[in-house]
Amino acid sequence: MNKHVVSIVDSHYLNKDFKQFVLTKPKGYKFIPGQSVYVSINTQGQQNDIRPFTFTGLNNWDTLELIIKIHSGYDGLTNKLDKLPVGSELLITDAWGTFSYKGDGVFIAAGSGITPFIAILRDLKEKNQISGDTLIYSNQMKDDVIMENELSYLLGPNLHFVFTRQNVIGFRENRIDEIYLKETIKNFNQHFYVCGPAEFVQNIISMLSNLGIEPQTIIFEKKGTGIKLPDVKPKT
Ligand SMILES: Cc1cc2nc3c(=O)[nH]c(=O)nc-3n(C[C@H](O)[C@H](O)[C@H](O)COP(=O)(O)OP(=O)(O)OC[C@H]3O[C@@H](n4cnc5c(N)ncnc54)[C@H](O)[C@@H]3O)c2cc1C
Repeated sequence: MNKHVVSIVDSHYLNKDFKQFVLTKPKGYKFIPGQSVYVSINTQGQQNDIRPFTFTGLNNWDTLELIIKIHSGYDGLTNKLDKLPVGSELLITDAWGTFSYKGDGVFIAAGSGITPFIAILRDLKEKNQISGDTLIYSNQMKDDVIMENELSYLLGPNLHFVFTRQNVIGFRENRIDEIYLKETIKNFNQHFYVCGPAEFVQNIISMLSNLGIEPQTIIFEKKGTGIKLPDVKPKT
């Protein structure tokens, strides 16, 4: 996998956990919405400490965009990224991954699982092809939601929030279950895109199977656990 040096143009918090990073875009760099990238810090001794993140911007933009949940409680990569000033250099690989749009469907995300959907939904809006898509976005609390205004603009009435730990007037409380899916999804004869922690993804797939959804129409990606990192060596 090729590696590219990029630098941080801007970084700011979207809420208490998630930080948006705007990066320079290498000449000719290409990706499709839903693809991810391995990222490390381009300083001596840090280049091999890589983690996967998903592009949230679009390929036709002049800059790259990542939205990263900062795990500030311990000294992992995201905590180090949080402390980098504008102008700091990162190493990114070529874009990879096959989590891509296959047609009208229901997007079901939890936590940082929203990131591939941000890129895919932005792309669909740009192409004027978003009207047949629905997003169910689950978080513990309303404060955990990112990009609420833009998601509302992109999806209008086809955006549904679920909060698992907070009673919020006007919003759905508690977990996603089969009853909720039956009430919320009008057409089960379409694609299902599922992204979030492994347990969430597994549970949603089981529910969809119980509701008679064909496995080949379910596209999923598990975030955050069991990550197998590739053998990427820094350029010397
Ligand atoms: C394909 C893919 C795409 C992804 N895209 C995104 C994205 O766009 N945005 C995003 O925010 N995330 C994304 N992730 C998840 C992201 O890669 C991880 O959150 C990131 O690797 C965490 O890095 P870290 O170095 O801070 O934590 P790591 O050191 O990698 O730790 C991973 C997990 O282990 C636990 N842990 C480790 N050490 C400790 C400790 N000392 N104390 C307590 N808990 C600990 C934490 O729960 C943490 O979540 C993606 C994951 C995958 C697989």
